Amino acid sequence: MSKTGERAPLSTTDHDRGATGMKYVYAVVSRRAGGVSVGVNLNPNNACNWRCVYCQVPGLVRGAAPRIDLDLLESELRELLGDIRSGSFMQARVPVEARRLRDLAFSGNGEPTSSPQLAEAIDRVAAVRDELGLREELPLVLITNGSLLGRPDAQRAITRLAAHGGEVWFKLDRATAEGLASVSSTPVDPVRHLARLRDAAAICPTRIQTCMFERNGEAPDADEIDAWVDALRTLVADGVSLRGVLLYGLARPSLQPEAGELDSVSPDWLERLAARVESLGLSVQIST
Ligand code: SF4
Repeated sequence: MSKTGERAPLSTTDHDRGATGMKYVYAVVSRRAGGVSVGVNLNPNNACNWRCVYCQVPGLVRGAAPRIDLDLLESELRELLGDIRSGSFMQARVPVEARRLRDLAFSGNGEPTSSPQLAEAIDRVAAVRDELGLREELPLVLITNGSLLGRPDAQRAITRLAAHGGEVWFKLDRATAEGLASVSSTPVDPVRHLARLRDAAAICPTRIQTCMFERNGEAPDADEIDAWVDALRTLVADGVSLRGVLLYGLARPSLQPEAGELDSVSPDWLERLAARVESLGLSVQIST
C-alpha cells in the first residue's frame, strides 16, 4: 500500500505537511482552492527569512531552505500524483465534496525563493505533472513573501514558472514600513517591496496575497488600509498587470508568540475592503 493510503482523511483544518509521510510533497484540502491542493515544501527545516505574526509553521526559525534532494522530490511527487490520479488517494483521504484537484503550489514551511534550486525544482515538478497528463488540472503556483524576488536565482525561477503556465502569489500584507514590519517582524522597505512586485509581474502572471486580522481587538487602522489601497491604485494606474487580489482572514491559529493577540476581522470588514479593491478594477477572492 502506498503511504498516502494509510492515513486518516484530510480536512480544511488539517494542513499537516507531514500527512503524506513524505519529505517534500504533501496534499491539503484547501478552502482557498476549493479542493485538493498539492504542495511542494522546499523548507522542511521550517526556515523563513520573515516571521509573520500569523505564521502557522510549527517551530519556525529564521533562515533559508536547505539543499534539496531533487530526485527524492521528483519521486515523491510522482507517487502522490499517481495515487491521486488513480483515485486511491481521493477515496482514502479526501471528503467527497472536495475530490477535485486545484493547484500544485510551492508553499511550504518557509520561503521557497530562498532555495537556489527553485528553478530546477519548478522544471522537475512541471515535467512530472505534464508527463502524468495533469497540466490543465494542476496549475503551478509559487506562494512567496516576495522579499527575495530581486535575486537573479529567484528571477530565473519565476521565468521558468511562467514558461510552465504558472503564477506568482506575492505577499503584500501592508504598504507602510511600520505595517510591514509589524506583520513580518522584519524591516521591509515598502518602495523596494513594491518594485519587486512590479518586476515579478513583468516576468510571470502575478496575484497579490494579503492577510488582514485584528490585533489586540483592533483591525488595521484607516491610514494603514488607505496606504494599502493607494499602493494597489498606483499599480493599476501604472499598468502593472495583476491577476487579482487574494484577501485572507485568519484561517487557522498562529503558531507564533503573538497568537493570543490576533483575531479574525469580521466578514463585513473584509467585504468592504474587497469592494474598495474591486472599484480599482482588480478581481478579489476572499478566504476566511
Ligand atoms: S513568509 Fe510565510 S513562511 Fe515566512 S513567516 Fe511569513 S507566513 Fe511564515
